[in-house]
Amino acid sequence: MPERREFLAALMAAGLGRSGSKGVEGRGVSTGLRSSTRFDSLRPPSTPDLIVVGNIHTMDAATPRVEAFAVSGGRISAVGTAADIRRLAGRDTKVIDARSSTVFPGFIDAHCHPDGVEELVGVNCNLPRIADIQAALRKKAAETPPGMWVSGHMYDDTKLADGRPLTRRDIDAVVTDRSVLVVHRGGHTGIANSAAFAEAGVDANTPDPDGGRFYRENGELTGKVAEHALDRLRGAVKRADVTPDVRRRAVAAFSGQMAKSGLTSVHSTGADEFDLRALEEARDDDQLRFRMYLFPLQPLFRKLNAAGIKTGFGDEVIRIGPVKYIADGSASERTMRMSTPYVGRPNDYGILVISQEELNSQVEEAHRSGWRVGTHANGDVAIDMVLTAYERAQQLMPRADVRHRIEHCTLVNPGLLERIKAGGVIPAPFYTYVYYHGEKWVEYGEEKVRWMFAHRSFLDYGIPVAPASDYMPGPYEPLMAIQSMVTRTDYRGRVWGGNQKITVPEALRICTMNGAYASKEETIKGSITPGKLADFVVLARDPHTEDPSVIKDIPVLRTFLGGRATFEA
Ligand SMILES: [Zn+2]
Repeated sequence: MPERREFLAALMAAGLGRSGSKGVEGRGVSTGLRSSTRFDSLRPPSTPDLIVVGNIHTMDAATPRVEAFAVSGGRISAVGTAADIRRLAGRDTKVIDARSSTVFPGFIDAHCHPDGVEELVGVNCNLPRIADIQAALRKKAAETPPGMWVSGHMYDDTKLADGRPLTRRDIDAVVTDRSVLVVHRGGHTGIANSAAFAEAGVDANTPDPDGGRFYRENGELTGKVAEHALDRLRGAVKRADVTPDVRRRAVAAFSGQMAKSGLTSVHSTGADEFDLRALEEARDDDQLRFRMYLFPLQPLFRKLNAAGIKTGFGDEVIRIGPVKYIADGSASERTMRMSTPYVGRPNDYGILVISQEELNSQVEEAHRSGWRVGTHANGDVAIDMVLTAYERAQQLMPRADVRHRIEHCTLVNPGLLERIKAGGVIPAPFYTYVYYHGEKWVEYGEEKVRWMFAHRSFLDYGIPVAPASDYMPGPYEPLMAIQSMVTRTDYRGRVWGGNQKITVPEALRICTMNGAYASKEETIKGSITPGKLADFVVLARDPHTEDPSVIKDIPVLRTFLGGRATFEA
């Protein structure tokens, strides 16, 4: 690990004289925490470690297109013509010839859940038929020690060939001696078997909790549970397969998966101390393939806050983000809280999981402590509540450039957009949902979808909308996201809210610069600019010139993090 003095010299050599300037919370890496970037190998910019020559889109308005750039000590050290940059090369300088491909800054996913644990040890229920899910659960149950639960994930109720959702009886038909909980990929609903309800102490007569629902038919539990009712089931889960070692391996493996799609930075929006520890250990093993901006859930927030830590603490690899709160239900599971009902369910307006008073006091606590806040709010009712809480906190204690966030911010209207703009609030709407979840939008109806995932509206209001997959709920591939935002067309070819289409350059800017802005890291990420981190991606073809309906199929050739390859096709 370099001394602080050497480190600062390295920053200056890398042209980062403005690194400590406003905008970067935690002052870059000068916290003295370890970094996977090897500054001790830094040479002056005249002898770069790496030179990239090709069709380069920098996303930097000052020099949007360059022929080449140089990398020294994990940072971009120069951009310019191929001739100028080649002239900097020394004997040991590696040269990447990307003239037949296209280079962009690394993509950023500002809202996802990439701990990788379920992907490594859970039952993947993203399967075509109920019979397939039954077979997978039966197999896992046979391998599960008595007394432990079987956990399914990636279940998607509207994509089954059976044309109906999974039920308690479906699972009872294959597993009776173990508790089973299959969670929807949206994360707000699940299906449990009878053993699970018994273990959680829930039966057909158990009242619904506030902000939750045990679904019933003819006086019996269907197996479906939502929001705080799901929490009740989750609270009873016992698993032997989620050890610290599994967590460490899981996040490492999953970071490698995300690197394959061109991602270099992600925001993990809802983490506990075990998630944080797993990240640190994966990093110690040099196995972490993305940079992390981590949103603590309330319990971890309280511990960090008590220790004097606030949003922005950390370094360029792992940084603490806003505290994560939740106001309402889910878009993909059709439980978000709206001012008008769901199509075909005239009495169903969705679910709120918190009161205005509770939200006000939670936001005030974090805001006064110098934290940023990111609150999950999908429906217009929930978004209004969150804005009210943010506006109230700012009135009680004004803070400059705080950039509180609204996670998802799905259904908006002109009044909400004006308040978001006025408050400097950053929305993080789903960017792959139009394409991937098209079959669900009939339950909202075309009129409402014109105001959902409203990327065009946010840009028109001058709001720096953040890129967000919410994986698992949505696929995380940034190229699918660009296609989805540009075409507003689902996988079956139906257009949803065509008024919200944006252009390819706008979509690329959201996936890079706006992602950096959302973590207050725009001075070190988001563009290929001298002084910034050398995070970039090489694509086989240029999205600007590709047929928009197949942008998602452009191969990602290589991904680089701090000048090191994290993925090579
Ligand atoms: Zn989420």
